[in-house]
Amino acid sequence: MTLLQTPSRPPATQHTSALEDAHAQLAAAVADLGYDEGTHAMLSKSRRELTVSIPLRRDDGSTQVLTGYRVQHNISRGPAKGGLRYSPQVTLDEVRALAMWMTWKCALLDVPYGGAKGGIALDPRQYSQAELERITRRYTSEILPIIGPQQDIPAPDIGTDERTMAWIMDTYSVSKGHTVPGVVTGKPLSLGGSLGRASATSRGVVHIANAALRSEGITVAGATAAIQGFGKVGRDAARFLTDDGALVVAASDQYGAVHNAAGLDIDALGAHVDATGSVVGFSSADPLPAGELLELDIDVLVPAAIEGVIHEGNAANVRARIIVEGANGPTSRDADAILASNGVLVVPDILANAGGVIVSYFEWVQANQSYRWEARDVETRLEERMLAGWASVNSHAAAHDLTLRAAATRLAVARVTEAHRLRGLYP
Ligand code: GLU
Repeated sequence: MTLLQTPSRPPATQHTSALEDAHAQLAAAVADLGYDEGTHAMLSKSRRELTVSIPLRRDDGSTQVLTGYRVQHNISRGPAKGGLRYSPQVTLDEVRALAMWMTWKCALLDVPYGGAKGGIALDPRQYSQAELERITRRYTSEILPIIGPQQDIPAPDIGTDERTMAWIMDTYSVSKGHTVPGVVTGKPLSLGGSLGRASATSRGVVHIANAALRSEGITVAGATAAIQGFGKVGRDAARFLTDDGALVVAASDQYGAVHNAAGLDIDALGAHVDATGSVVGFSSADPLPAGELLELDIDVLVPAAIEGVIHEGNAANVRARIIVEGANGPTSRDADAILASNGVLVVPDILANAGGVIVSYFEWVQANQSYRWEARDVETRLEERMLAGWASVNSHAAAHDLTLRAAATRLAVARVTEAHRLRGLYP
């Protein structure tokens, strides 16, 4: 079972919105790079935005109309690529920000895609499997004109999983009259999914956490970590960190947090979550107010849930030496400035959580080749790309005295702009 990461957000006065943060990061990169206003405008606007109504026949016979979005931020470097999110917090602005971050992520890791994101504003826990299938199929048929293996390739995100991807693939394939495995990634293995895709984001997070620890002179074995969000990303990240000898001392979900200074038994915690749906009540740990997890005195903090959890109101209390962003946009721009002045090393989302889209790319390549790679090929190539990304962001940051986020954004924005420049403006 995958836990949904949809805890309530801090009050609006305490943090900027994801879109404001994304625009501010872009504006800073554009200013550093000396680009003109026209280039800035091209990079800040979505290439395509589609808002669709999704009429749903509920199991009780009533009809409800949901709203869904698909935003393609940029397609200059290749097909649009990005996840599909089911969460009550989904808005067009949130999807715009997430799509923009996908553009930078793909460019930074040199994956030949643009950036996109989709979302439906709903709480999936309120719907049956049959209803979720009808919602997904109707949403797919509404966005069908703009998706495809060479156009826009959805993948899982918060609230969606491989079953959702199977429904999208089937709906799209039925409309085309033949099976099209390359239209989505994150599919079940038996439908052409890739070995290593399900845990790829977490693996990438841990490759980066290890590299960041080493760069700070901290030995991985015995390093302390806390994981905010024990879902698709956080749970496997906790497991891989523990496998590498780190002590994961705290974990949280939308219901609460647990703490054990000697290190949590991640397998036992996982079994507890499978049985109860939450980390809360895990007997081999003490309860901890969820907000306090972000303020523990530890080596690595992995926010692996939603945007804006580290904000102006709590950033000064963060005592972790390193933050590795498993989630997209967990640190607001105000928080970024506070963390930088306090010497906290923040490894940005577009680098830290790129393992997911990297293995999505491998899955798409395998679909195009009709040839399955071995698990070790996936793992080795993932690690190579993550470490190459880490090295280039680090050296750029050091050479220009930038934070890792500023360096990563600048590198990515420069690559996308170079693609625009080479292609030219039509007509
Ligand atoms: N939803 C993931 C992300 O935010 C994966 C996207 C993908 O694989 O296309 O990076």
